Amino acid sequence: MSLSSSQGENILHGVLEQFDLAANRLKLDEKLRMVLRSCKRELTVHFPIVMDDGKTVVFTGYRVQHNLARGPGKGGIRYAPDVTPDEVKAMAMLMTWKSAVVNIPYGGAKGGIACSPNLMSATELERLTRRYTTEISLVIGPDEDIPAPDVGTDATVMGWIVDAYSQQRGFYVPGVVTGKPLSLRGTKGRAGAAGRGCALIAREMFGYLGKELQGTAVVVQGFGKVGQAVASELTKYGCKIIAVSDISGGTFASSGLDIDRLLKHEKDSLIDFKGGESLTNRELLELPCDILLPCAVEGQITEANAPRLKAKVIIEGANGPTTPEADHILDDRGICVVPDILANAGGVVVSYFEWLQDTQSSFWEEEQVNERLLSIMKRSFKEVLNISQKEKISMRTAAYMVGVDRVAAAMTARGIYA
Ligand code: NAD
Repeated sequence: MSLSSSQGENILHGVLEQFDLAANRLKLDEKLRMVLRSCKRELTVHFPIVMDDGKTVVFTGYRVQHNLARGPGKGGIRYAPDVTPDEVKAMAMLMTWKSAVVNIPYGGAKGGIACSPNLMSATELERLTRRYTTEISLVIGPDEDIPAPDVGTDATVMGWIVDAYSQQRGFYVPGVVTGKPLSLRGTKGRAGAAGRGCALIAREMFGYLGKELQGTAVVVQGFGKVGQAVASELTKYGCKIIAVSDISGGTFASSGLDIDRLLKHEKDSLIDFKGGESLTNRELLELPCDILLPCAVEGQITEANAPRLKAKVIIEGANGPTTPEADHILDDRGICVVPDILANAGGVVVSYFEWLQDTQSSFWEEEQVNERLLSIMKRSFKEVLNISQKEKISMRTAAYMVGVDRVAAAMTARGIYA
């Protein structure tokens, strides 16, 4: 599926609509509201890359910082053909609220390049990454804005970024990105942290509902970094992963898929996986299940399919997978949605741990990373759940209230410099 710029616009409207709901409930001051509805800094860069065939192509990239009141900007870099300025702005805003929901000292940022990473060679991707890093080095840095992996990028890309940035400074600056390889002072436990965090949230949610996770039927849309990690983790908790998908479609087995075998499946698409029946992404989203985890991209659960979804609980591994219209329908249908800014925050939490270790040059064991992740996810889940119950509102509005309130408090304490 390709996102047009108007879909990017829709995503931005959705995030702003959620912000307005929370701001109304918090009776947020009008001036703060105005500031928080805009992004502080938006950088667009156009830059040439020499492709392997000798041709020169001009690419467009972005780095947007929404709010830096609580600390440096933090947010991933996305490589996808349909990256648009509005989509990047929406994702930067989500990062501000997410960092505040889990109460780590970061603001929100996001970056991206409109490109097709699957159609580019490793050397083309490396040139693209290094040149983009140079272009955005004006605004990134360990105390300014710290990128991380997102859709279409990974630890290898982060390695090129840290190297390009460090070459400009003349010395090694590990804190400029997170999600780096371990050999470059990445952290143990960063790979799959967002997915592991989603699994912890599923456990908390089922604990609250007084239900067992053991034997529950789980559907995962998007079998990338987040989707693979959550499927592996939930399998360890005794869940049955009945369907997973990638961009071209998915595979289904009512008795449960063999996740280890799926992780080793090296073909381009999951459709031809021999251990299940193939199905479309549309069919997958509408399967009867206990937990649905949209872990692909935004705008997947819409007013068109929300009335047909049969999941009992939805845990948003992806950022912005549910449109506001769908949210209302799911709410009316009594389907509980744990929102992205809480559910997938494990990624930014472990990124914070990586940055802490880099700035202190002192490194943690994986158990320490996981224990601290668990403690933050549990605490944040409880805070959001308490507000949702007290105010009788959705978990999404409750999470926004927690996040917006913390950012507003920091901005009020700093004052408006006029
Ligand atoms: P990824 O590139 O590793 O994987 C994305 C997966 O989704 C792939 O399997 C891809 O084929 C599939 N996909 C893409 N478009 C699709 C579509 N239209 N329909 C169905 N499947 C589709 O990306 P990721 O890092 O796993 O990120 C996935 C989501 O999680 C994004 O929304 C991202 O912003 C969010 N997220 C990522 C992290 C992280 O640390 N990587 C942290 C928090 C949130």
